[in-house]
Amino acid sequence: MLRLAAMVSVEQTRAELLDGRTLAEQIKREVAEEVRRAGIKPCLAAVLVGDDAASAVYVRNKVRACAEVGINSDQHVLPAATTTEELLALIDELNRREDVDGILVQLPLPKQVDEALIIEAVDPRKDVDGFHPTNVGLLAIGRPRFVPCTPAGIIELLERNKIEIAGANACVVGRSQIVGRPVAGLLLQRHATVTICHSRTRDLPSVTRQADILIAAIGRPAFIRGDYIKRGATVIDVGVNKVTDANEARSMFADEADKRLEAIKQRGYTLVGDVHPAEADQIAGRRTPVPGGVGLLTVAMLMRNTLQAAKARRGV
Ligand code: NDP
Repeated sequence: MLRLAAMVSVEQTRAELLDGRTLAEQIKREVAEEVRRAGIKPCLAAVLVGDDAASAVYVRNKVRACAEVGINSDQHVLPAATTTEELLALIDELNRREDVDGILVQLPLPKQVDEALIIEAVDPRKDVDGFHPTNVGLLAIGRPRFVPCTPAGIIELLERNKIEIAGANACVVGRSQIVGRPVAGLLLQRHATVTICHSRTRDLPSVTRQADILIAAIGRPAFIRGDYIKRGATVIDVGVNKVTDANEARSMFADEADKRLEAIKQRGYTLVGDVHPAEADQIAGRRTPVPGGVGLLTVAMLMRNTLQAAKARRGV
């Protein structure tokens, strides 16, 4: 009897995994249905500069998602030596093209290109990444138009899993323009009490331990350990990091270790988030896995933003 009680309590302490994969598929189905119903053919222009392997994979995934939901894609692959002026000329052409609804410039851009200038050059009505200062400003004043895709995906995941945001203590670790800041703004807009942490935050664990919703967007493998997490908290892991060392991977993954070690053997690495999965499982109420959590939602939300741009531009 006592043993049974112990087993039940072990069972209860394991964090529930929030499934981004299934939700991303659902959102894409919803977009596809709305595209069909609206009787339009939205078009996303995707611009890739240089030969960064990870960026090429991201663009390929976005183009594939377009095909799945009935959105046309128009790909532009430019050489690594492209200048700011050459890229500005392409953006200008895409801004003018009547058939293009959304423009995506895959970041990061090569060093010689002025990234801020490129982001500002995109027509704010076609800025489906939500990076243009006009769209950043609209989000900041609580009237969002295009919301950056990863933060939008995080909110979708919380809301569809019925995780209460209003009144919750939310802590965002990371203050980047593409994840940390916008997700903090969206949480605030939904009435969470929001704390934003960064590399200068003093005694980080004592701050993160107050959070009912903890969002890690840092870029350091398994950085958020068990003692950073409040018992029962919802932990959203945005990080995507490669771990190549088998011992390191073994210490991060409990049940899953064999699968991860096999991945290192096959591909040379396994993907790990910013949260220590084995330790988070012992203390969090829910957490997103990596992969299979936030990443896939990013692409699904880009499809939704492109549909939104097409409808707004065509007055549908
Ligand atoms: P950035 O490098 O732009 O920002 C990282 C942030 O983490 C900074 O604000 C930095 O603080 C903070 N930070 C770094 N070290 C510490 C530390 N020791 N303690 C506290 N804070 C720290 O990263 P991004 O926001 O672009 O990305 C974060 C992670 O999310 C990456 O792993 C990235 O690959 C992933 N990502 C995943 C996406 C997805 O679709 N799943 C999309 C985008 C990103 P400071 O400002 O003080 O330097």
